[in-house]
Amino acid sequence: MTGHKVDLLVVGAGPVGLYGAYYAGVRGLSTAIIDSLSEVGGQVSALYPEKMIFDIAGYPAVKGRDLVEALLTQASAHRPQFLLGQEAQNLRTDSAGRFQVETSSGDSIDCGAVVVTGGIGTFTPRQLPAGEIYLGRGLDYFVPDPAPYTGADVVVVGGGDSALDWA
Ligand SMILES: Cc1cc2nc3c(=O)[nH]c(=O)nc-3n(C[C@H](O)[C@H](O)[C@H](O)COP(=O)(O)OP(=O)(O)OC[C@H]3O[C@@H](n4cnc5c(N)ncnc54)[C@H](O)[C@@H]3O)c2cc1C
Repeated sequence: MTGHKVDLLVVGAGPVGLYGAYYAGVRGLSTAIIDSLSEVGGQVSALYPEKMIFDIAGYPAVKGRDLVEALLTQASAHRPQFLLGQEAQNLRTDSAGRFQVETSSGDSIDCGAVVVTGGIGTFTPRQLPAGEIYLGRGLDYFVPDPAPYTGADVVVVGGGDSALDWA
């Protein structure tokens, strides 16, 4: 178990959390940012890193991956602690009015404030009713990079935005 002590804990390292961490740094706060995913960027990194985005102020067009990289560079200027691959699970307050947040990895963060930028929540794939034994061996729920699929016959299961993007 690791203990951390910061002014501010940001829960969720999606675009909003990354920008929030940047701004907390501008205001001189020490900041930690936690995400259940192993990389920053939230939905953008997990679901559409290769998609072009056209509605970000200041960018007429930007690829998802490049937007996240820019947000990360901006946030990192103030050296937040990144606690990735762990979920914020419990919140307690102490008699001094500070918060203690416990994570799925057993870490504990002592902080003066918590900002929740959790978007639509932690990502857990809607699992296929069959085929779990192939997970990581041909069955994937996220496609961070299309390169490994070059030359392969791929079946995309689903009919939402992401499925159409990847198809
Ligand atoms: C396929 C697709 C295409 C899109 N295209 C566009 C577009 O072109 N333009 C546009 O403006 N928007 C688009 N969006 C919407 C956009 O991605 C979201 O509005 C944006 O990602 C929200 O950012 P966020 O930081 O609020 O949350 P999210 O990106 O959802 O990030 C929240 C993060 O919080 C983490 N989290 C939540 N709870 C916890 C917890 N308890 N502990 C630890 N971590 C936690 C999650 O794992 C996640 O990484 C699209 C969305 C999808 C799905």
